[in-house]
Amino acid sequence: MVQRFFKNEVGYEDWFSKNPEGLVLNVYEENVTTDKLHLANCFHLRAEGEEGRRTNSYEKVCSDSAEELMVEATRIGIKRNKVWAWCPHCKKKFDEKAARFLKL
Ligand SMILES: [Zn+2]
Repeated sequence: MVQRFFKNEVGYEDWFSKNPEGLVLNVYEENVTTDKLHLANCFHLRAEGEEGRRTNSYEKVCSDSAEELMVEATRIGIKRNKVWAWCPHCKKKFDEKAARFLKL
C-alpha cells in the first residue's frame, strides 16, 4: 500500500517502525528534476541531523512493495515533469536481495 507523508513526522516514523523493509521515494521540490528511491532503512534517510524534520521540506511516498512504489514514482514524475532514480547504495542492496531470491 502506498502512503504519503508531508509535514507528518509522527505518521512517517510510525510507518517506518512497521515497514523497516519497505521503500521510500523522496519527492523533491519542483525545481529538482529527479526524485530518489531508497530502501526505508537507508542511512541517507536516517541521518540524525534530520531527526524530527524528515518530512518537512518535501514529501515522502512510502510502500512495502517495490513494484508498487516504482509505478507510483513514474506516475508522480509524469505529472510533475520529473524522473526518478534509485539511490545507488539502495539499488545495490535491492539487486543483491533479488539475486538471492532467484537462487532459491
Ligand atoms: Zn538510499
